[in-house]
Amino acid sequence: MRGVVLTDALIGTFASADDEQLRQNRCLLYHLIGNGTGDWDVPVGGMGAVTGALADAARRAGATLVTGAEVLSVTPDGEVLYREGDTERVVVGGHVLANVAPRTLARLLGEESSETPEGAQLKVNMVLRRLPRLRDTAVDPRDAFGGTFHVNESFAQLETAYREAADGRLPALPPCEIYCHSLTDPSILGPAERAAGVQTLTLFGLHMPARLFEADNDGARAEALRATMASLDRVLAEPIEDCLLPDGDGKPCIEAKTPLDLEAELGLPRGHIFHRDLSWPYGDDETAGTWGVETRHERVLLCGAGAARGGGVSGIPGHNAAMAVLGRRFGDGQAR
Ligand SMILES: Cc1cc2nc3c(=O)[nH]c(=O)nc-3n(C[C@H](O)[C@H](O)[C@H](O)COP(=O)(O)OP(=O)(O)OC[C@H]3O[C@@H](n4cnc5c(N)ncnc54)[C@H](O)[C@@H]3O)c2cc1C
Repeated sequence: MRGVVLTDALIGTFASADDEQLRQNRCLLYHLIGNGTGDWDVPVGGMGAVTGALADAARRAGATLVTGAEVLSVTPDGEVLYREGDTERVVVGGHVLANVAPRTLARLLGEESSETPEGAQLKVNMVLRRLPRLRDTAVDPRDAFGGTFHVNESFAQLETAYREAADGRLPALPPCEIYCHSLTDPSILGPAERAAGVQTLTLFGLHMPARLFEADNDGARAEALRATMASLDRVLAEPIEDCLLPDGDGKPCIEAKTPLDLEAELGLPRGHIFHRDLSWPYGDDETAGTWGVETRHERVLLCGAGAARGGGVSGIPGHNAAMAVLGRRFGDGQAR
């Protein structure tokens, strides 16, 4: 039970249960405030359905959306230089709401950053021909896979894995958890896959900090994946590899992402899934702004997960950045 609770404190957070910085406590807090109950929901149609709806609402309100563009620099007076294809363009905004990580925003502003974020997870995505059989035959796999399925995540196992990783080694028995999103929401599968009984399985491995992958990302990824699959197999009645769906080339549908992979592909600083360590959701010094999204530049606001009141996919910083701008334009009372 202690391990199951502790995992909510350690997702995306490389810390021991007793770490004096209390980053794990803040992570637990953010896991408990969702919807006021801590319930974890899966959006019908996948996360793309959420971003698609946001994009539609923005277009209806007259927004121009530019995607596939890289921002090259931002100035405190609202000038944004970006590259689209081979062309560099400039736009100037009354406000710039930056969804990037605080360390990335500092770079774009040409400023030094004292931030040293570090992600600590191995992410494995799989497509299965069918759910694997469980070692415990009393449990229906559909019940077991329907929620968060914890694997080797007892309190002692989590602490051991933390110590090993802190000492510079991949955990010998990686603690991990798996989620089967297609059981919760079959609409994320195509009709043919659904009819064939295909399932998605995504695994979140803890205590795999970026530092362990720096010397040889490819080699360490392969080793981390091997150890993690072996950890998962301990609770299964058959190897998970036997259940993987082959792709069009006959290769098994499995991919593993280290923190360094997430940095390269998603721009997450050192693969930190929350952009930076989570902060308490209140200001603790006089420089903190009203909404937790303010920077030291009046016109530049954070609207992504790294804001002071941030936290995963909560969307809180986006709401707060919008409220901060509306408050300046119409007065705080009316904006609220
Ligand atoms: C494997 C994994 C599992 C997770 N699980 C959960 C979970 O279960 N629950 C939860 O709440 N959170 C979870 N998270 C965290 C959550 O996904 C993030 O906190 C959230 O996506 C942050 O959203 P965001 O919009 O603030 O930033 P992001 O989604 O990181 O978006 C920032 C965007 O800015 C882009 N960008 C960066 N630099 C530039 C530039 N110079 N120019 C243009 N674009 C740029 C990036 O490419 C990216 O698209 C998970 C994250 C990962 C990686």
